[in-house]
Formats: sequence, C-alpha cells, structure tokens
Amino acid sequence: MSQKEYSEQLQEMQISPEVCSFCMQAEKKLAERFIEVDHILDQNQWKVLNSFRKNRVAERHFETSTGYGNVDDGRDTLEAVYADVFHTEDALVRPQIISGTHALSTALFGVLRPGDEVLFALGAPYDTLQGVVGIREEIGALTEFGITYRIAELKEDGSADLDAIASSITDKTRIVEIQRSKGYSFRHSLSVEEIGEIIRRVRAVKKDVVVMVDNCYGEFTETIEPSDVGADLTVGSLIKNPGGGLAPIGGYIAGRADLIERCAARLSSPGIGKEGGATLGVTRTLYQGFFLAPQTTCHAVKTAMLAAQVFSDLGFAVSPSAQEPHYDIVEAIALNSPERLNAFCRGIQASAPVDSYVVPVASPMPGYDRDVIMAAGAFVSGASIELSADGPMVPPYIVYFQGALTYSHGKLGVMKALQCLIDDGLVQLP
Ligand SMILES: *Cc1c(COP(=O)(O)O)cnc(C)c1O
Repeated sequence: MSQKEYSEQLQEMQISPEVCSFCMQAEKKLAERFIEVDHILDQNQWKVLNSFRKNRVAERHFETSTGYGNVDDGRDTLEAVYADVFHTEDALVRPQIISGTHALSTALFGVLRPGDEVLFALGAPYDTLQGVVGIREEIGALTEFGITYRIAELKEDGSADLDAIASSITDKTRIVEIQRSKGYSFRHSLSVEEIGEIIRRVRAVKKDVVVMVDNCYGEFTETIEPSDVGADLTVGSLIKNPGGGLAPIGGYIAGRADLIERCAARLSSPGIGKEGGATLGVTRTLYQGFFLAPQTTCHAVKTAMLAAQVFSDLGFAVSPSAQEPHYDIVEAIALNSPERLNAFCRGIQASAPVDSYVVPVASPMPGYDRDVIMAAGAFVSGASIELSADGPMVPPYIVYFQGALTYSHGKLGVMKALQCLIDDGLVQLP
C-alpha cells in the first residue's frame, strides 16, 4: 500500500496528511537505528529460546495449580527459565507479586534487618518506593522497622556520582539500590555497562554489600542485563517488558540463591518460601509473554525513538535523543505547558485499542505525592508495556511516553498525539 493510501486511512482517525507525512519523514531518519535494535532483538530472542530449550519446557508446564500450590512444576520451571536468561542462580517469578513496587519492596524487606541501611545510588528512588522506604511517611515503611536509608545525589549533569556513592557506604550499609530507568526525572537511563561500573566501585569499598537493581523498563533493551555485571538481585514487573504484553499480573526477582530464599520467605511466609503459591491458570501466559518479550520491547523502543525524533524535530527537549541508544522503553518529552501535556495524553488515549473514547484528566494517584495524568487504554489494566503516556502535573510538564505492543500502533499514537497538539493550537508544523 502506498503512503498516500495509508494517509487517507488515517484521516478516519482525524490525523491529517501533513502530520502523517511529517512523522514518516522522521521515521526515515531512524533506518539505521532500527537495524541496530533489530540486532538486539535477534540476540535476545535467541537467548530466551535457548533457555526454553535447555529447560525442556513442555506442554505439561502450562498446567496450573490451586490452593496451596505446593506442587507446580510449571511455575518452578518458569523460574528456572528466568534464572537462565538472567544468568542467575535462582529467580522468583510469581503472580502473587502484584506490581514492580511490590517486587522491589519484597526484595528490600527480604534482605534488610533492623539496624541495616539501604543506599540509593542514583538520587531519590522512584515515587512509589519512597513510601516503601519511609522517605515519604507510610504505614509499614522500612523506617518503622529500624532500617535507615541514605541517598547519593546525582551529579549536576544527571549522571551517577561515584565518589558520593562510595563515601555514603558505611558499616551499616547492607543494600545498594541502583535504579536503571529514569523514573519521573529527566536524567538519562543507565546502560548495563554503567551499572557495572557503579557495582565495581561499590564492591571496592564494601565487598559483601548486596547490590539490587530496579530493572523496571530496562529488560531486553540491551543484550545483557544487570545480573551479567554483578548485580545480586535484579527486580522488575511483568506488566512491563518481561511480560511481553501478555502477562496479566506479576513480578520477578532474579539473583543469588540465598537472597532469593529470603525474598520468598518475605513474599509468602517463613517456612513456606518458594514452595507455596498457586498459579491459578496464568502460567501459559507468563511463558508466552516472556517468549515474546524481546520483540515487544524492541517495538516499544522503536516507538520511543520515533517520538524522540518527531518531537525534537519540532524543537522540544527529549530524553534520550532519537539517535542515542535507548536503555529503557521510556521517552521523556518536555512539553512546557499543562495544556500540551493534556493534549498529548488525549491523543495517546484516543489511539488506544481499549477505552479510546475516554479523556484522561490529572488526578491524585496512590503512591505518588503529586497529581498525575495517565493515558492508557490497555488490555491489562495499568500495563505500561502497552502504549501509554503519563506525567506529573508540574513544570516543565514532561510527558513520559512508553510502550506499544507493535511499532505500527506506537506510530499511530505518536501521530495522534501530535495531531491533538496541533488541533489545540499548541504546536505548529514547520
Ligand atoms: C514502573 C516502575 C516501578 C514500579 O512501579 P509499579 O507501577 O509498581 O510496577 C519502579 N521503578 C521504576 C523505575 C519504574 O519504572
């Protein structure tokens, strides 16, 4: 089909031929970058397939358990598959982990004991974790259990301050937490290599400290993971990259066997650990999602690159730039006005497969201390591996844009978001 026919189709979604052509021009500039991310996909797809083969995944593994779930070979084998992909001794991959925050919280509470301290190596952690730690007061936070925290601030350019990290490590430091993705900040996300550099520095000061990486949004954006450069625990959400867009719930923790045991004791109960936990019919989907995850992630990265190219061509500050490597699936675009943030999110919502007729509005969110606007019309509620955009309602009104199960859909989202900005007179095409 010619670009003309495509452009005509899009008019049914009120996307103008001018917007379509502007975005297609931007896409052309990305040809070489797309080849690079396709190479990453090839390697990751091989890695995942290889681990399925090695663990002899079979149809019987898709059977499910109920009740206590004391015998569940499918669940245990899935954990072995994850452990192989992450090159770790063990992994905990469970539908009982309700979100990324819960996975991270499980790891912190699993490892830390009264008197211990956790050091956040890249500035204050992700909003929801602040409540877990007690940086923001919440019932049941780590601080209530006599566990303290320290924060090593970022350097002015947004990079890790290795000296500050090293000098913040004390006798009490038990965990150093490294957040790979930017979260709601404009800093660049860390490459796995940069994470390795931080870990080497940390180990030089204190050999036996536990390094835990918040890997949310980072999985499969590179050919290696934080666990390949010395992280003791690598943690993430299944309704982001590793669920491949199919997982309806879940989180994972991959790492050292002795630490996974402690996390499992925290997640279920001391004495039960990994032994219990029924899978209630989701096992097949978790396998299939993990199998698709390298491709889903690749398409999300391409979508982020297109958004970066389109909006930087229009003069907006974006992070990362389209031509830089993307170490997570999130594109941050500084829109500089609340009206633009609203219009962008309206466009993303209008191009969603679910709830496309809804208009998102900013509101308070549990776990966040600022009003947040969120656009998502997802098959899995809140799944940000699906096309979604969100941002806190504070200057410079940055939209954090991520996901898309397919690049073609992501592209539509970018075009519709731009169209909404133009319709409201908030952006003009050059
Ligand atoms: C998404 C995310 C989390 C966890 O958030 P949930 O919504 O609880 O899954 C933690 N850290 C980062 C950097 C994230 O992007």
